[in-house]
Amino acid sequence: MTANEVRSGAITEVLNRTGVETAEIRPLSETWATDVFNLDKMEEALSKNAFKAVKKTVQTGEPLDPATADIVAAAMKDWAMGKGAKFFSHVFYPLTNITAEKHDGFIITNADGNAITEFTGSLLIKGEPDGSSFPNGSLRMTNAARGYTAWDPTSPAYIMQTANGATLMIPSVFMSWTGESLDKKIPLLRSNAAMDQAARRVLTLMGETDIAPLNASCGAEQEYFLVDQHFAAARPDLILAGRTLFGAPPAKGQEFDDHYFGAIPERVQIFMQDFEDKLYRLGIPAKTHHNEVAPGQFEIAPYHEAANIAADHQQLLMTVMKKTAAEHGFLCLLHEKPFAGLNGSGKHVNWSVGNATQGNLLDPGTSPEQNLNFLLFCGAVIRGVHKFGPLLRAVIASASNDHRLGANEAPPAILSVYLGDQLEAVFEDIKNGCVSVSSDGGEMDLGLSQILNFKRDPGDRNRTSPFAFTGNRFEFRAVGSSQSVSGPLVAMNTMLADSLNWIADRLEVQLEGGKTHAEAVAVVLKELLEQHGNAIFGGDGYSSDWHEAAVSERGLRNLPTSADALPVFTEPEVVELFESTGVLSAVELNARYEVYAEQYINSIAVEAKLVMELAKTVIYPATLKYASELARTITAAQELDASFDTGQVKVIADNANKLMETVSQLAVEAEKHDFADTEAHMHHCAKAIRPLMEKARVYADTLEAEVDDAVWPLPKYREMLFIK
Ligand code: ADP
Ligand code: MG
Repeated sequence: MTANEVRSGAITEVLNRTGVETAEIRPLSETWATDVFNLDKMEEALSKNAFKAVKKTVQTGEPLDPATADIVAAAMKDWAMGKGAKFFSHVFYPLTNITAEKHDGFIITNADGNAITEFTGSLLIKGEPDGSSFPNGSLRMTNAARGYTAWDPTSPAYIMQTANGATLMIPSVFMSWTGESLDKKIPLLRSNAAMDQAARRVLTLMGETDIAPLNASCGAEQEYFLVDQHFAAARPDLILAGRTLFGAPPAKGQEFDDHYFGAIPERVQIFMQDFEDKLYRLGIPAKTHHNEVAPGQFEIAPYHEAANIAADHQQLLMTVMKKTAAEHGFLCLLHEKPFAGLNGSGKHVNWSVGNATQGNLLDPGTSPEQNLNFLLFCGAVIRGVHKFGPLLRAVIASASNDHRLGANEAPPAILSVYLGDQLEAVFEDIKNGCVSVSSDGGEMDLGLSQILNFKRDPGDRNRTSPFAFTGNRFEFRAVGSSQSVSGPLVAMNTMLADSLNWIADRLEVQLEGGKTHAEAVAVVLKELLEQHGNAIFGGDGYSSDWHEAAVSERGLRNLPTSADALPVFTEPEVVELFESTGVLSAVELNARYEVYAEQYINSIAVEAKLVMELAKTVIYPATLKYASELARTITAAQELDASFDTGQVKVIADNANKLMETVSQLAVEAEKHDFADTEAHMHHCAKAIRPLMEKARVYADTLEAEVDDAVWPLPKYREMLFIK
């Protein structure tokens, strides 16, 4: 088959679809968490004492004694085997955005050669994958390849059903032989602990006596595209890079705003129901789904959960989504910008912190004492965004998210915080010292008249802010759709811990000096806002005025590319932040920088190779064939009428030559490897390679609009986006 036959064949295949069988959808009561070994299942399976011990571990993270671990392991194995599992696997989250797993059988043989099964506490607690092939940023030499996985009892084990059987999956951390974190879960757990400690300090100073363990919560909205697999199979760029490297804009895009919240195509609806049914079995609380702005783009958002569990569930959701989409004949694209000229995909990370005794500390609530806590926690976030905005930019840096950030539909690469009119006014008053404090009762009055009436949705939504207060939580909107939520959660928890400690230090001084709680809060927040209020911005984050003013007037940093942002991981303030809170050592942090930089460089290298390959072996040959045929046809036509014009041949020749010239330049730049350091190499990718790829695309896309549709080899945007 020639390439263009593949394309026309794909259209025929898609049009001839007989439809997917509707999966049998069962009631929630029959499916919810059936494949999860959660506390309910443990209570059924374990003795009272064993259950008590494991429950304590789950709720507080306290280690489990070896005897109980054996009992839990045996119960877990029985439960899993009852569901058909013969294998188990520690699931872990290496420094890429992927989920990793190594499967082991329960089976062993005894002296008589009979197969028996075994799963001890120590097998449950510790695994040892050959770690050498996971990125480690020089944390381990390959000859010292040991990496350990260790069970995280706070995230429940579950069964993964695949066509070839069921496997018991055990959420785990992943570390080097020397105990350094090689994964995304360890820092998340540590950052939660740091936040818990700092929050506890502040709450204690504020007079709270009963303080339950504090947890960050996360609810992540996931955007994605679906493309029929037949089209995807004929697009090497979609398969290997997850995005289209070429493709002329279709005559109709998203200009009519007719996709957003429109009726979901039936085939997609069937996929979503099947997918969500699978999520429910895994205990993932899928809550909303809808069309997104671009044609072919959708969103799913589960209900929020404790950050550690939400992060594991988010990884699992991405895995199940891709798999289920394939079963329904779709390629699911999690790339941040699969189609040029259309909206990209993000993953809005909704985040708050709270506990069972004080509730959600980012909820303004209605009573003054709670409002004081709220103001302190909210102030702490403002300070964090101001002081560590560049870090927030760094944790969402990737070659793919760079295409989206700062584009005119996505949050800018400058980090500021949106509070809404009402809350912004309150903080403005505090900063200006016009919140009067009554000396006796210890309650603020003025500003409080606004605050006391706080409603849950103060002010409008600001879609142009990268970091927005949305009534009882912050929404980090700049996170990319393919990214793990762990990096952003770690950064937010850690900056919050740092700010809460800063606040606690000052509160201590004020309270010792005899101030009431309300007076002390007013003084501390005034100082905080004088130093950090510059991060508060309620205007249009997309506007060029803001990009200018943010930097020149507010002193905020604009880090447009990952090459600019990733080195932030090695800056002294950031190292100090992570070391002082015990979340990451300087060595662990540097390893992250190295791994993320390498991924950035590698992704761009792969794309550059694909651009050259597609240009030379697909687009140019098709163009040449068409041009010679066109020239022959015109000559024949001119015999009939001399006025037939050869202009189109010239346009095609011109663009084809320029395409090949650009590809040659790209080859030269892509071959360069002698850079002073990683940062220089990244800048080469951002400033030399990327622009040439884009330049090549302009010529190729012009050709797509000139060459006969019948011979164009690659499926077109209008087909991939509109034919389902
Ligand atoms: P919208 O599109 O209006 O921003 P969605 O309903 O799509 O909202 O998603 C909001 C997400 O925020 C959901 O995952 C929801 O569970 C989550 N969320 C709500 N309250 C909190 C909270 N206190 N902490 C963290 N996430 C929250
Ligand atoms: Mg949303």
